[in-house]
Amino acid sequence: MRKKKAFTHSFTGTPSVKDAIESLGVPHTEVDLILVNGRPVDFSSLLTGGEYISVYPCFESLDISGVTGLHDRGLRISRFILDVHLGKLARYLRLFGFDTVYEKDYDDREIARRSVEEKRILLTRDVGLLKHKDLTHGYWLRSQQPMTQLQEVLDHFDLYSQAKPFSRCMACNGIISPVSRQEVEEQIPPLTGKYVQAYSRCTRCGKIYWEGSHYERMRDTVARVLGRKNSSDSS
Ligand SMILES: [Zn+2]
Repeated sequence: MRKKKAFTHSFTGTPSVKDAIESLGVPHTEVDLILVNGRPVDFSSLLTGGEYISVYPCFESLDISGVTGLHDRGLRISRFILDVHLGKLARYLRLFGFDTVYEKDYDDREIARRSVEEKRILLTRDVGLLKHKDLTHGYWLRSQQPMTQLQEVLDHFDLYSQAKPFSRCMACNGIISPVSRQEVEEQIPPLTGKYVQAYSRCTRCGKIYWEGSHYERMRDTVARVLGRKNSSDSS
């Protein structure tokens, strides 16, 4: 058996790597990846001697369950469910457009169940909650400070490019969409109606959003958080 072992193979001339591998009894259809001196090559690559060659079968047939790190990357969708102590973080995540379930009166079992069923990443400060046997995706927050927690999550799951600020209702997690002033006239303060032109409404709870002073504060927060990532990239 020469699997997973290094050995020397002698040849004459300059055979293709495909011929060299097949001369060892391995059909090329079994081969998914070939590295010559650490670089991927195709079958036609010619050998001259002295190269270090690694040959890999199709990865689907390999048992990779023991390889750490792959698990983290498996869940591409970035949806969250938060434990009952993380109300402020929930609002921040929604501000950045991330689908975030948060309920004040959930018990731990219910949180774990929804995390699994809806493929939501469970965020918590409670390590015990992450030990629930069915749970597959969770993250233990280091910080106790909501804004720092937000940055932890964005960093850990590399979510900066996925942020869609002001697309989601901070109160209920619903999607926000633009509405005309006429549609919301009776629900906004008279002075606001005089000065503000653009309005949005949550399609779930009906909460109305407009670009007032509160909006400006949030916009500064968004710019600061996203800018922090950009400045760390360029350094
Ligand atoms: Zn809402």
